[in-house]
Amino acid sequence: MNTVATSLPERNAAEVADLVLMPEAAAPEVRARRAWQRRQMYIGQVASYSLGASVLLLYAHDGVISIDIASLFWVGGLLIIGTFTVLSEAGVGDKFSDHYLTVFQISAHMALQFVFLLSAPTIGIAFICVLFLIFAFGTLRMTSPQAMLTWALATAGLAAVFLASDLPIGMPVATRLQRTASMLCFVLVIGQCAFLGLFGATLRKILYRRSIELKAAYRRIEELAELDELTGSYNRRCIMRLLDTEIEKSRRTSTPCAIALIDLDWFKRINDAHGHPVGDEVLRTFAITIFANIRPADSFGRYGGEEFLLLLPDTDGDAASRMLERLRRVVADLDWSAFSPGMLVTISAGVVTLRDVDTADTFLARADSALYSAKAQGRNRIATN
Ligand code: GH3
Ligand code: MG
Ligand code: MG
Repeated sequence: MNTVATSLPERNAAEVADLVLMPEAAAPEVRARRAWQRRQMYIGQVASYSLGASVLLLYAHDGVISIDIASLFWVGGLLIIGTFTVLSEAGVGDKFSDHYLTVFQISAHMALQFVFLLSAPTIGIAFICVLFLIFAFGTLRMTSPQAMLTWALATAGLAAVFLASDLPIGMPVATRLQRTASMLCFVLVIGQCAFLGLFGATLRKILYRRSIELKAAYRRIEELAELDELTGSYNRRCIMRLLDTEIEKSRRTSTPCAIALIDLDWFKRINDAHGHPVGDEVLRTFAITIFANIRPADSFGRYGGEEFLLLLPDTDGDAASRMLERLRRVVADLDWSAFSPGMLVTISAGVVTLRDVDTADTFLARADSALYSAKAQGRNRIATN
């Protein structure tokens, strides 16, 4: 009578969670995994029907029902399971979002219980117990409409048996054996319900863990979308967005805002002399050096090639020039000989502060023109505009 319990370990629950997260996925390995899950479930169902039939045998042994009822119950259960196994192996379930065909399974198993409820009403409670088990199984996978539909079917069936007939639905307790069999009906159903509940809880835990992992992955994707792969500084799109934000904030709070366009001097020569990979390493080291020497509120991003944009919120012209001069010196004084003996790396920068008439474009253009004059004056220097 205990029909549809499954014996599914945590590993299976993890895979179910996978499928819940990507129900439309139908890659061959996903289909194979689903088929494996269904096989596990059918094995559990066979065990469940076998246990149920064994309890019916106790009733039969005590003469409450004929032995045919017990045998037919087992055969009927196996026929349903066999049918769904064949459908499952033929890949029929894979065509549906619910590859377990839950509603059909529930309906078939429920129908079987009602047939036996009508055939052997004296042990009716035993079959009604199984309805609980069927629904415990269903709650793992059913949607609300499916739950409503199957519940309506169960209600109609119960109404037909209880209200439209005078059948004596019973639970035999006249002898010790009958009492044992009746108790076993409950014990087995409760046990299997508890097991299904545990499986559901594991599933929820896994889903919760997956959702946390998913959130972390999403955060990482967002981060990666903002960062320049080589230097770890903000990429152009992001630093330009931050520039707009800083301009808006500076106007709103009436605080000064400075920016600096920084360009590595003679960088082409570094590439030519030492190779592009060394050039990459120089860019990376330069970026790390800048990060180590700016304030948390400052933003540093790659504007393009070997040109970088530094945003200095709440900073006036003098402070910005002083800061850039310090950065220039730090870079120039760095020991670059690890890359190549005698290597020198210097930077030039154009520093400007925001004016009332500036847009982001004119602000940048002024920084660019200051950078140009730093280059024109001989490089390794800071210029303002
Ligand atoms: P200047 O002092 O006038 O800025 O001279 P420069 O040689 O630095 O300027 P130029 O614009 O002629 O050359 C910039 C070089 O930067 C050319 C380009 O190959 C190199 N570059 C741009 N992006 C990268 C990169 O990601 N990695 C490497 N290794 N080189 C890069
Ligand atoms: Mg350059
Ligand atoms: Mg350049």
